[in-house]
Amino acid sequence: MSLQAFVARRVVTPEGVRPAAILVEGERIQAVVSPDLVPHHCKVHDFGEAAILPGLVDSHVHINDPGREEWEGFETATQAAAAGGYTMLVDMPLNCLPATTSVAAFQSKRAAADGRCRVDWAAWGGVVHDNQNDIEALAGAGVPGFKCFLINPGIDGFTMVTEQQLRMALPHVVRTGLPLLVHAELPGAIDHATNALANADWNRYATYLQSRPDEAELEAIRLMLSLCREYGFRLHIVHLSTSRALPELCAARAEGLPVSVETCPHYLHLLAETISDRATLSKCAPPIRSRENCEKLWQGLRDGTIDMVVTDHSPCPPAMKRLTEGNFQTAWGGIASLSVALPLMWTESRRRGFTLLDLVRWMAEGPARLAGCSARKGRLAAGYDADFVIFDPESEFVVTKEKLYYRHTVSPYLGETLCGVVKATYLRGNPVYSEGEFPGEAAGREFTKNTRPRSMS
Ligand SMILES: [Zn+2]
Repeated sequence: MSLQAFVARRVVTPEGVRPAAILVEGERIQAVVSPDLVPHHCKVHDFGEAAILPGLVDSHVHINDPGREEWEGFETATQAAAAGGYTMLVDMPLNCLPATTSVAAFQSKRAAADGRCRVDWAAWGGVVHDNQNDIEALAGAGVPGFKCFLINPGIDGFTMVTEQQLRMALPHVVRTGLPLLVHAELPGAIDHATNALANADWNRYATYLQSRPDEAELEAIRLMLSLCREYGFRLHIVHLSTSRALPELCAARAEGLPVSVETCPHYLHLLAETISDRATLSKCAPPIRSRENCEKLWQGLRDGTIDMVVTDHSPCPPAMKRLTEGNFQTAWGGIASLSVALPLMWTESRRRGFTLLDLVRWMAEGPARLAGCSARKGRLAAGYDADFVIFDPESEFVVTKEKLYYRHTVSPYLGETLCGVVKATYLRGNPVYSEGEFPGEAAGREFTKNTRPRSMS
């Protein structure tokens, strides 16, 4: 097998950012060496001043396939991922039909994904009100973990769980040793707030924000931490929005509880104060909160209470965003960002003094660890998949529809100038995105821990 060398001045390795050559044989990284140690007769790709980052891993994506391909789909989601520097996605178990709550449903997802993905993928299993007996079978079939909702997710085919139903599911989750990802909002505080807003103006963002108070998240996180203490399962809080939970999450970690936390680019970039009335493209749940809250989330990243940043890429047909009515009550909640998450995060990070190493920790290493693929994904090191992003950290670009690449090119970020351009993305040694093009076949495949890549002999 021929050896290739990928050379740049700024290669982001676990040891730091340095001039280096990534030597790739077949699909894997053979070694990361000093540029003057590249062997002769090796095909050299020199990216000069650009940075090379490991392929990003997004452990929170709604691909909506099979069953709701008119919302998104494997082709378009993985195309947007490749253009955004991601080489591995983990799909959420809802929005697809059937929802991924049984082995049969998981098999239909595998059948749907086959031959249609530009990057590698895996799929979380769902924990719903009545599938306790499917949990261990799903683990055996290869899901890397589970997702549940403590509040109605607002979509057919996937139910929330009550504390009592969770207590029936948790012994099974514990036996799998896999993480349970939790949408942490409890209905009580939200119902109470929403009832008080019956006559409010739902064209106003402030109304929507009031309807999903911090307390809903706080109460849910307290419940999950106490269940974590009682059962000892691996708890992961998805899309943390309220910074008010950070002290308790930090204390839980100090206590030794196996808890991890993610937040998303929209909570770190958009601000309640600047979301216009009727601007339903910025609706998501939990909601985008204040500027002060946003800065505290950044502090949570700085001190390590928040482990990772994932997109929660959650597109829908544009009509569901109710753009003409601008009604925050009826609009679908969800923000799609796979193709722009890296520049969004870099734009916000670098002005706060963070480096490319921090981005890699939050957007590659952390999600890879959660999704059980950290032995092969998320790092530029010997033995890892040759997944990487060629990134120009100094160039700027304007977000246009042409640069989004997912099915419905609506976005709250259109027209923004962002810093950092993804020049190319490589999946297992081959380019899957390069300067606006998607070379080659759809070569992405399911990541499974127990199987060797099919093409390896
Ligand atoms: Zn989500």
